[in-house]
Amino acid sequence: MTDFESRLLVRGAHGYEEARLGAVWNERKPDRRPDAILVAAGDRDVQEGVRWGVARGLRVSVRSGGHSWIGNGVRDGGLLIDLSALDEVVVDAPNRRATVRPAVQGTRFNALLAAEGLVFPSGHCPSVGVGGFLLGGGYGWNSRALGPACFSVEGVDAVLADGTLVHATDETHPDLMWAVRGAGPGFFAVVTRFHLRVHPAYDQILRSAYVFPHELRDEVLAWSYDTVPEVSDSLELSAKVACTPGVERPTTTITAAAFCTPQDGPEMLEPLERAPFLRHALRRIERRPSSLDDLYALSDGLTPKGRRYAVDGVWTDAPVERVLDAGQEVLDGIPTRESFLLWMLWGGQPTRENACWSTQGRLYFSPNAVWRDPADDLLGETWAHDSLRALDPVAHGTQFADANPADRPDHGLRAEQAARLERLRERYDPHGLFRTYLSPEESTTALAVRRRAERTA
Ligand SMILES: Cc1cc2nc3c(=O)[nH]c(=O)nc-3n(C[C@H](O)[C@H](O)[C@H](O)COP(=O)(O)OP(=O)(O)OC[C@H]3O[C@@H](n4cnc5c(N)ncnc54)[C@H](O)[C@@H]3O)c2cc1C
Repeated sequence: MTDFESRLLVRGAHGYEEARLGAVWNERKPDRRPDAILVAAGDRDVQEGVRWGVARGLRVSVRSGGHSWIGNGVRDGGLLIDLSALDEVVVDAPNRRATVRPAVQGTRFNALLAAEGLVFPSGHCPSVGVGGFLLGGGYGWNSRALGPACFSVEGVDAVLADGTLVHATDETHPDLMWAVRGAGPGFFAVVTRFHLRVHPAYDQILRSAYVFPHELRDEVLAWSYDTVPEVSDSLELSAKVACTPGVERPTTTITAAAFCTPQDGPEMLEPLERAPFLRHALRRIERRPSSLDDLYALSDGLTPKGRRYAVDGVWTDAPVERVLDAGQEVLDGIPTRESFLLWMLWGGQPTRENACWSTQGRLYFSPNAVWRDPADDLLGETWAHDSLRALDPVAHGTQFADANPADRPDHGLRAEQAARLERLRERYDPHGLFRTYLSPEESTTALAVRRRAERTA
């Protein structure tokens, strides 16, 4: 048996089921089975895997960190290339550059960077893999100032549909790089390394958080929406509507993290401190010196491993009264005590010539359904995906990070960028080797099963 063969787990082989289930971080695993899973040990395996798939007429899917909420890499039939063993980081501190393999997680990467006085806007949750995160745009800590993380990708090493390995930069492969920056699960090659620009570490992080009673929900959300254009880009402002221990009705927590110097931090937080409803806060934390590790721990607490999740979201720039009106069912219908509505005030970003990434708006409105019992699947999925449809009239697309195109079809790119991406796919992957966005026919959620049953009834 060759080394390659020893890492290839065909369906039924010892280790196959473990690799299939392990490919999805969410406890709600898809009921889909690839014909084979290749646990790649390096670039050469990926090349050989692609050629192996081509020779057998198998389509190819990919997993890096496994954090796709819908388990996008796990498809029925075909070959799943599992990159979870590729987690090397090389930091070139003097040039503020780093090379990372696709399964690298944000906390480890930032710990290595911190030792050199550097930082990268990796995902809010510590365990997200950079592979899917960067391809999907990438909203990390301080992305309002640093931009979606894909803007910091300067090059990739990628295996193309014919099995060749290329080192791509804006100079050598401008089209491929344009697609890398935002195509998400629609990318048509396998990235084995990202070459990144990294950033100077922050002098200080200050965090404030205020918890408000249910009655103030709409006032707090509207204030934050109207205020975000006036606050510093280095202030990350978000609200969360969720249950709070000891409080009966869902509360609204507004959180601000200032990536700052000791001089400008208090000034950044001042608009929040002037908010008219502040005196009604049930709990408060003010100007607390924090670290990236503190912020990661907070996110981790919000989305612990071992739960079942259905997550979705839309971008909007509409007047806040219309957003609140359209979002009423989502806001009023939080399905379990661990579920929450995330109201992320990104503030908008212009599109770029060198990136297909293109849907961001002022607000990202994102239901996160969290539960433990499989019997609650339909409840969580209906809230996260079906209730969100009420926002269609005010929304302009989704984020690939959380998209579930199978259960709530939506666009993660503007029409012009989506059309160009498909033209490039025809050129780079003319025989459709690589899987693209998950389709409704492939979904195995309780919601999809119910819809199919309703159609045939
Ligand atoms: C708990 C949690 C917190 C999250 N927080 C954030 C956040 O703060 N900000 C944010 O932007 N997103 C966040 N996400 C979403 C996350 O960024 C996306 O799900 C992303 O796809 C995860 O990347 P991954 O490599 O771990 O996922 P995977 O499931 O491994 O990959 C998802 C898909 O991306 C594509 N892909 C991945 N790697 C490659 C590669 N090397 N080459 C080609 N295609 C590839 C494939 O189509 C693959 O199926 C979060 C997700 C979870 C579960």
